[in-house]
Amino acid sequence: MGKKVIIVGSGIAGMAAAIRLSIKGYEVTVFEANSYPGGKLSEINMKGYRFDAGPSLFTLPEQLEELFELANKKRKIF
Ligand SMILES: Cc1cc2nc3c(=O)[nH]c(=O)nc-3n(C[C@H](O)[C@H](O)[C@H](O)COP(=O)(O)OP(=O)(O)OC[C@H]3O[C@@H](n4cnc5c(N)ncnc54)[C@H](O)[C@@H]3O)c2cc1C
Repeated sequence: MGKKVIIVGSGIAGMAAAIRLSIKGYEVTVFEANSYPGGKLSEINMKGYRFDAGPSLFTLPEQLEELFELANKKRKIF
C-alpha cells in the first residue's frame, strides 16, 4: 500500500508540494478552505469585469517550469 499524504491549502505552495509528492508515488489529498484552488492567486469577477487579485509577475519562473517538466505536462502560458 502506498504512503498517504495530506496537504492543507491549495495555494501555489500546496499545489507544488502535491505535484512533487504525487510524482514520487504518494497518494495525495489536498484540503482547501476556499471554494476554489490557488490561494492568493485569485481573481474577482464583478459586473462582467475580471480583476486579478494576486501576483502580477513570477519572480522565479524557473521553479514553475521545473514543476511542469517533472509532471511531464506542457504549459499553456508564458
Ligand atoms: C496582491 C498580491 C500581489 C502579489 N504579487 C506577487 C508578485 O508579483 N510576485 C510574487 O512572486 N509574489 C507575489 N505575491 C505573493 C504570492 O502571491 C504569494 O506569496 C503566494 O501566492 C503564496 O502562496 P502560498 O501557497 O504560500 O499561500 P496562499 O496562496 O495563501 O495559499 C494558502 C491556502 O491555504 C488555504 N488554507 C489556509 N488554512 C487552511 C485550513 N486550515 N484548511 C484548509 N485550507 C486552508 C487558504 O485558503 C489558501 O488557499 C503577491 C500577493 C498578493 C496578495
